[in-house]
Amino acid sequence: MRKLVLLGGGYGNMRILLRLLPASLPQDTEIILIDRTPFHSMKTEFYALAAGTESDHDVRVPFPEHERLKVVNGEILEIGLQEKCIFMENGDRIAYDDLVIGLGCEDKYHSVPGADEFTYSIQTIGKSRATYQALLGLPAGAVVGVVGAGLSGIELASELRESRKDLNIKLFDRSPRILRDFPERLSNFVRKWFENNNVDVVSNSNITQVEPNMLYNHEETIPVDAVVWTAGIQPVKPVRDLGLASDSSGRIVINQYHQLPDDEHVYVVGDCAALPMAPSAQLAEEQAEQIVKVLKATWKGEELPETMPEIKLKGFLGSLGKKQGFAYLADRTVTGRIARLMKSGVLWMYKWHNG
Ligand SMILES: Cc1cc2nc3c(=O)[nH]c(=O)nc-3n(C[C@H](O)[C@H](O)[C@H](O)COP(=O)(O)OP(=O)(O)OC[C@H]3O[C@@H](n4cnc5c(N)ncnc54)[C@H](O)[C@@H]3O)c2cc1C
Repeated sequence: MRKLVLLGGGYGNMRILLRLLPASLPQDTEIILIDRTPFHSMKTEFYALAAGTESDHDVRVPFPEHERLKVVNGEILEIGLQEKCIFMENGDRIAYDDLVIGLGCEDKYHSVPGADEFTYSIQTIGKSRATYQALLGLPAGAVVGVVGAGLSGIELASELRESRKDLNIKLFDRSPRILRDFPERLSNFVRKWFENNNVDVVSNSNITQVEPNMLYNHEETIPVDAVVWTAGIQPVKPVRDLGLASDSSGRIVINQYHQLPDDEHVYVVGDCAALPMAPSAQLAEEQAEQIVKVLKATWKGEELPETMPEIKLKGFLGSLGKKQGFAYLADRTVTGRIARLMKSGVLWMYKWHNG
């Protein structure tokens, strides 16, 4: 049996499973899916898990079942490209014929002293649970710093505000205006929401050090009771350890068929892949659609198209608590309740399509 091994059951590889199962997998091929969690974790919802507004059960989806899908639950230590096998933490080795690396990313601390040791994270379901425990255990009036005002920082700060009205929340934004790369209307809407809901947005910030109960913004010291880091990401360690050519964010360089340039049997999907767009679940899924087409053509011995179509994204949707949101879709800005309903609708559809 030919072995297609999928590393990581995230958004990219879930889409590959959805397209290949139940009927599009050749009879002589089996899939081995390896993940540290025995279910698909919906990373886009980890902010709500950490803020205590969604339960653990709400942010996971079972993996599909199929007679030729084997799910291996465990920690991947190393990807052996020479050996064509995966080395697991428990000593097991799993051989592959074709491989899709979809292990996602983890926090990047930009060498800020103390950031790794003294901040909480929302990059894995396990870390988000720990963050939930820490944040929800804080006494009334405690100060929470959220470092990084990108989409995940904004969503966490707003959700936490709705979850805990009694906390002092400070959102540290590196730029002069929130969501600087998007239209001012969008920035103003988000800024106003934070003003009205008593979240302190600290603009032009530069966190230079973290200590237990202390943040350094430039030279200023800010006492804090907990800090969550949402200020940068990089591919996970087993992927970084490959030492392959990468872009400025550490994402692996691939060819137009999403394969390693010198190994057509190894594909990279999602946050680990160097693509012209910022990493997102939507991008991972669109890329996965193309990988499935390439895999199917290769299995049938067909020639691959000379040029792959350009990946087009729809835009993004963000939430400000459970009632308000913002979106940037097809160069148009949508704010308020409608944007929030759209986000909930997308999530509902995702869960529905993924069982
Ligand atoms: C709070 C937050 C909100 C977000 N909101 C959005 C949004 O609204 N829209 C959007 O498009 N994107 C959003 N994103 C980004 C999105 O979640 C990622 O881009 C997406 O999850 C990447 O998908 P992926 O398939 O590359 O990997 P992931 O979905 O991250 O999956 C990786 C999988 O690999 C497994 N894994 C990792 N390392 C190992 C190992 N060593 N051993 C075993 N298993 C391992 C993990 O358990 C995980 O299941 C958000 C991210 C965050 C953190």
